[in-house]
Amino acid sequence: MWDNILRNTLFGLVILNLTSIGIKKFNPTDMIPETNVKPNTELNKNSVNSRMTYGRFLDYLEMGWIKQVDLYDNSRNAIVEASSPELGNRPQIIRVEIPVGTSQLIQKLKEYNIDFDSHPTEDQNIWITLASNVLLPIIFIAGLFYLFQSSENFPGNSDSSPMNIGKSTARFERRPDTGVVFNDIAGIDEAKAEFEEIVSFLKQPEKYTIVGAKIPKGILLVGPPGTGKTLLAKAIANEADVPFFSVAGSEFVEMFIGIGASRVRDLFKKASENAPCIVFIDEIDAVGRERGAGIGGGNDEREQTLNQLLTEMDGFKENKGVIVVGATNRVDILDSALLRPGRFDRQVTVNLPDRLGRVGILKVHARNKPISDDVSLVQLANRTPGFSGADLANLLNEAAILATRYEKSSITKNEVNEAADRIIGGIAGTPMEDNKNKRLVAYHEVGHAIIGSVLKSHDEVEKITLVPRGGAKGLTWFTPDEDQTLVSRSELLARIIATLGGRAAEQVVFGTPEVTTGASGDLQRVTSLARQMVTRFGMSNIGPIALEDENNGQVFLGANMAVENNDYAESLADRIDDQVCKIINYCEQKSVEIIKDNRVIIDLIVERLLDVETMDGPEFRELLSTYTVLPDKKTLYVSKFS
Ligand code: ADP
Ligand code: ZN
Repeated sequence: MWDNILRNTLFGLVILNLTSIGIKKFNPTDMIPETNVKPNTELNKNSVNSRMTYGRFLDYLEMGWIKQVDLYDNSRNAIVEASSPELGNRPQIIRVEIPVGTSQLIQKLKEYNIDFDSHPTEDQNIWITLASNVLLPIIFIAGLFYLFQSSENFPGNSDSSPMNIGKSTARFERRPDTGVVFNDIAGIDEAKAEFEEIVSFLKQPEKYTIVGAKIPKGILLVGPPGTGKTLLAKAIANEADVPFFSVAGSEFVEMFIGIGASRVRDLFKKASENAPCIVFIDEIDAVGRERGAGIGGGNDEREQTLNQLLTEMDGFKENKGVIVVGATNRVDILDSALLRPGRFDRQVTVNLPDRLGRVGILKVHARNKPISDDVSLVQLANRTPGFSGADLANLLNEAAILATRYEKSSITKNEVNEAADRIIGGIAGTPMEDNKNKRLVAYHEVGHAIIGSVLKSHDEVEKITLVPRGGAKGLTWFTPDEDQTLVSRSELLARIIATLGGRAAEQVVFGTPEVTTGASGDLQRVTSLARQMVTRFGMSNIGPIALEDENNGQVFLGANMAVENNDYAESLADRIDDQVCKIINYCEQKSVEIIKDNRVIIDLIVERLLDVETMDGPEFRELLSTYTVLPDKKTLYVSKFS
């Protein structure tokens, strides 16, 4: 609503501006015809052509040559009557511009006993003055009022009016045509099944009530952004064909205490009048945060709003048909009262899609696009672990935009790959000039790639490129293994060793003094991985203790501050650092070893890469196998780092 007000206000101001420009245009002083000067009465400034500097005017004043002075425009201009020997001793009318800040002029004029007078800024027509002083504000206010009145979200309800500040801002659709059906949603089958049941209840409630079943009043969708939570809510509204209220939790949080609560009351009043219906509250954590938590304690307005929400959810009867669907990605910070039976008692987790899920989602979004046969959605899904539904939709959209740019009638493999590269790695820059730095970057990237290929537990090389992208001078892409939720210790170590491979290659080939800053990103990744091995996964000598959690180090405003994050002794902190260093040192040593062992192949591949700039995985593997007999892939058996 405030958006609207803001926009309307701006609009109002624009109108105002135009009008005042209009007045300027008809400034009457510009239209006054030349009149004869009437000496010793009033000197008219519009008919004076000769000028005099202020300094000269002061001279004249001292010499007693000035007869009369008329001041205009807040004493910025003066029309003077002077006569001097220079002027042939005949009285002349002269214009003088008076510099800002000469406040003693009047004093001086009195001193020399000059006849002077002052005139209003402009000889404005009385009507114009009246118009600008009285009419314009009236027009402005009336305009604003009119705009408020006409900016309703939907007919019959003046929600956006400032008079209705406590009313709910929920968008309401009586017969929703959200355009989303269950068929448009892929990859989150459990959540979908849950909602299909709700739809069936809304359509035939008797079927459930006859066997005494209670349908949940509230369903909480929990999952990362872009996984399709809003999409699900839209789909139920559409499929069940019941009224649909949708509101974001943040819209309840207002500056003034009590407004949020009264909005909640209003929303539920409307909802029960329209039952059966669905109320969708997005980002429910904005209101539903644990009470009294966070830095600076509680927030009265939010707590009142939450209390109101709890009361309302208790208030309406089961099986009345009002179903509240909340969405959040931080269920851990929600107030536990919200999750009690009778409120959001059912939680549905919506996770990032797995490989098959991604294929499904890509298929949904490929439906309305001309995609050429050389594009393999399965391969694309392989390349994109960790992508949400929204990311995948975005990827295909980006590919379609590229196809348009290249004036193609369908989306080919090139556009899809380019779009994926852009989204994962950033926008491509221009390749470097051929020089030592380019060679160094080539060795760095081939270093990563070689180690990745030599180690058994490492992902395959997908592409090596010297085309800079998103701040990196060169990139080595690996095809990630299927979803990386379960990663073994040797896989983690392999990752650390390969990540150190770039720097190791620089060091082995160019010598320690030539090692560059280019590996700083690699080093950060390595350190974080090694630290997590020690503190989260129990993969070091310290043993299987979880010393830190996922959000280590981030003070989250909504979390309870009383719970310490790093709850361990200083001596343990020392041991952690020690273990982290040991892991990294071990891996660095391995990394240098592998680079030295494979120096001949590395040199050959670097030459080729400098030529072609981008090398695909298959080409890289073929080069590896033609030039040398690859050693057996190494398996890492490391038990201790002490
Ligand atoms: P959330 O509410 O979880 O943040 P949305 O539902 O707003 O995410 O998803 C944003 C967009 O991403 C959707 O409009 C849709 O195009 C796409 N999308 C997300 N998840 C899926 C899915 N499971 N199937 C198909 N499309 C999806
Ligand atoms: Zn690197």
